[in-house]
Amino acid sequence: MNLIPLSFRLTMNLAPMRKIEHIGIAVKNLEVSNLLFEKLFGAPPYKFEEVASEGVKTSFFMNGPNKIELLEATNTESPIAKFLEKKGEGIHHIAFDVEDIIYEIARLQSEGFVVLNEIPKKGADNKLVAFLHPKNTNGVLIELCQEIVG
Ligand code: ZN
Repeated sequence: MNLIPLSFRLTMNLAPMRKIEHIGIAVKNLEVSNLLFEKLFGAPPYKFEEVASEGVKTSFFMNGPNKIELLEATNTESPIAKFLEKKGEGIHHIAFDVEDIIYEIARLQSEGFVVLNEIPKKGADNKLVAFLHPKNTNGVLIELCQEIVG
């Protein structure tokens, strides 16, 4: 729990979004795409994970310092199923690493961004995550993610 008031923290000038944590790509078939990205990067995924609450299964690749997440829908209600239906395969979101997701959510809301889940949820790869509505971010779905420590 973070007890430092937002107004004070804003004056502390914390680096808000520190770096791109990963890029999420929506795919129709994870197995097929895993082979494709393995060829592309010359290395297999280092992790597979299903996030049942989001209706997705994911795989993660490292490419140098960069991370790519592939996402396949596991049911028709999944946000990934809806994305594929509307836009087809491709870049689904860009995730940024944040130090304090509660603080970031409050900061971005105060700047007028629409946060899709005000209470961070447990995402893949041991992260707390929150998403910004793409209507306020030039059509790009932005994920905030904070590493869960301990
Ligand atoms: Zn992600």
